[in-house]
Amino acid sequence: SDASPNLSDAAPVALSYELFPPRSPAAAETLWTTIRELETTEPDYVSVTYGASGSNRDTAVELIDRLLVETTLRPLAHLTCIGNTPQELAGIIGQLLDTGVRGILALRGDLPKDGDRPVDGSLRYAQDLIELIRRVEQRRSALLCAGKIAVGVAAYPARHPESPSEEHDVEVLLAKQRSGADFAITQVFFHPSQYEDLLARARRAGVAIPIIPGVMPLTSLRRVKRLGELAGLQPDTKLTDRLAAADTDLERLRIGVDATVDLANAALDAGAPGIHLFTFNEHQSALEVLDKLSLPRHSRAGSRNAARAQLAG
Ligand code: FAD
Repeated sequence: SDASPNLSDAAPVALSYELFPPRSPAAAETLWTTIRELETTEPDYVSVTYGASGSNRDTAVELIDRLLVETTLRPLAHLTCIGNTPQELAGIIGQLLDTGVRGILALRGDLPKDGDRPVDGSLRYAQDLIELIRRVEQRRSALLCAGKIAVGVAAYPARHPESPSEEHDVEVLLAKQRSGADFAITQVFFHPSQYEDLLARARRAGVAIPIIPGVMPLTSLRRVKRLGELAGLQPDTKLTDRLAAADTDLERLRIGVDATVDLANAALDAGAPGIHLFTFNEHQSALEVLDKLSLPRHSRAGSRNAARAQLAG
């Protein structure tokens, strides 16, 4: 019998993009160019970030609303819980569901800066938010005739800055799964082994939900350094040296895109069920990365060819 793998049987690789709500009308205009470009690749969903304590709640909800009404894209709404009471959060969850949202990334958010005390009675952990989402969902089950809400959570390839150990992080991830999380998206990482190790630790501990690697296009030296600091990770110095030494933007783009494609491919080889691209509201790097990744279902060339074939009858 023919033992060669049948590619059509392979599990499809999920593709998603992260966007943030625009901070000005000019930023909104460029964001919408980006959205239209990304839409051509038929991602499984686009996620929309949420400012800590809901600082950008109105622009986030507005962007999500427009995505639902004006595009074919499915939004995944990030939601943070620190600094909000369960009553306030239940109201926001209800508002998101009323808008048509069926996916929420349940996060704690960053702790308030020194001196700012969290509001009395505010939720403490992402786990509390997952449980709240599930309770709101249950109360509204009669209205949610299209099925259940997909709840995602954050996962960390390197230890979360406040956590005592990576083992503790995996215990937290397992607790989030028990509370009703359906999938996880990782914080940025710079070495494939960081994702592989997380996956192995999580599976050993009993985490069965998909863990999707969060990948940033490594094309901006400034961003690579800043995100590295935020995640508590040292970027690959060979990459940062090459980015710093590049003579032109084009060369920097090529170096960064190649490094990103290598990282994403290594994660896919390790068993990643999809790729989540942090776009920073720019499409060029994200699309260049996508063009070089072999994800047939999402290739722009693929959709162009399909469109041509359809036109040709
Ligand atoms: P939690 O899972 O609650 O963990 C927070 C800390 O508490 C960890 O140290 C954990 O070990 C510990 N912990 C959790 N549960 C328990 C428990 N039961 N007992 C003891 N300790 C516990 N932030 C934003 O403000 N807006 C965004 O849109 C946003 N999007 C993000 C998207 C992704 C993919 C990722 C990875 C992060 C995002 N963040 C965002 C950042 C996130 O809010 C921070 O990393 C935050 O510090 C932790 O959030 P969490 O949901 O992982 O929290």
